[in-house]
Amino acid sequence: MESVFCFLHIFAVTGCLGVEMERERKGEAGRPGREGRGWKKEPRLVEWMKKGILAECLLLAVFAGVSFYQEQSSASRESSSASGGSASVSKGNADSKVLFVEDDYIKWVDFTVSYEALCQAYEWDVETHGTEHEIDWVELLAYAAAKTGGEFGKDALKTMDKAAEKLSEGEATMEELTEDLKYYDYYREAYDAVIGGLVGEYWEQTPDAGGSAGRTEGQTADSAGSGAAGQGQTGGAEREGYVERYGLKGYFPLARGFDYTHYDDFGVGRSYGYQRKHLGHDMMGLVGTPIMAIESGVVEALGWNQYGGWRIGIRSFDGKRYYYYAHLRQNYPYAEGLEEGSVVTAGDVIGYMGHTGYSVKENVNNIKIVHLHWGLQLIFDESQKEGNNEIWIDVYPLTRFLAKHTQAAVKVEGTKEWRRTNQIMDPAVEAYEAGNSEKSKTPAREDFLENNHIVGNEPEQ
Ligand SMILES: [Zn+2]
Repeated sequence: MESVFCFLHIFAVTGCLGVEMERERKGEAGRPGREGRGWKKEPRLVEWMKKGILAECLLLAVFAGVSFYQEQSSASRESSSASGGSASVSKGNADSKVLFVEDDYIKWVDFTVSYEALCQAYEWDVETHGTEHEIDWVELLAYAAAKTGGEFGKDALKTMDKAAEKLSEGEATMEELTEDLKYYDYYREAYDAVIGGLVGEYWEQTPDAGGSAGRTEGQTADSAGSGAAGQGQTGGAEREGYVERYGLKGYFPLARGFDYTHYDDFGVGRSYGYQRKHLGHDMMGLVGTPIMAIESGVVEALGWNQYGGWRIGIRSFDGKRYYYYAHLRQNYPYAEGLEEGSVVTAGDVIGYMGHTGYSVKENVNNIKIVHLHWGLQLIFDESQKEGNNEIWIDVYPLTRFLAKHTQAAVKVEGTKEWRRTNQIMDPAVEAYEAGNSEKSKTPAREDFLENNHIVGNEPEQ
């Protein structure tokens, strides 16, 4: 910056002198003076010098303004607070990412992590699990985002690999790598809110349930064929019929073997009711396709909504994620027994695909194309649950990533029900049920029943 000012200074002064000299040569010498040219020359030079300095000051002011703006916008690209850990980002700005810190919770998240980045970070996490230098995929992604300003192109992938190599070899710690990264804490908190519940330890039922528990090599019969690259390490098992695993414990939302199509449709226009944006992801398929819980949590909403039709809202135990599943089947939308307050485990069948919705009247198929709409809302503060401060993220890359962990379902004969084919035990469920969930922000049942009376606030379809 100094050098630029210096250059400007020289430019301003020499520029003025240059003009002066040029005029002298042409014999114009500025305004024709009343006084003689001889002794007039010096005051004129001073006058021009003054103008030069004035011009310089103006240039400096403009320059300072421009560089301040640039700093602001680069800060906004990285979106975070300087006050470590807690950050807030405003939305609705021209570039939608301008930052200001005004409170102690995150106000806005653009989840721009690509499918490739999710896969790469996940592989590092699973590969290093149990080693001396474990890599946390959330931290690795946050590191890349802090380096690139949230751009997840090829450079980010290279950045992650380089860092992960150093980390895994013990050449550096994440603290060291992120020391000077102003927005690392913001990204870590934001990404943890998005994907923090998806990877961890869990117990998976062995194919031969009730048989001898023990180490299994690779995957169980059930998870084989799910394209699960690096899916879950196995560990020493101590629970009968179950094997301990580490990896992706979140599930793909549709039962394995059911055809579907999808594309990135986040943010496209919708017009039923009012003009708005599509704040979720649509997966087109067949009526009755079993829908599975992506993550474990508590059923917070269940019933009719004029936009989402028969829909289910499930809150993660830490309260930060609200999973929204909409347009479920007419007449038989939900898994038997599911109700508000029910605790579900990732991979449980929760309902069935349909095309209900777009009607104030219940149980109406007003959606043209049969599909599951699923959305993911982030909640850092309860004030963000309903209204103008809602944060919904683009889950298309995440949906693709979740395809690493699918599960088959079997029909319960003589009913319309389907069941999952193998159970898992999720420590998060156990902690919640034991009442010692790390921090459960899940509101009391009365609270969310009350919230459900607010019709029209849910940005479904
Ligand atoms: Zn939708």
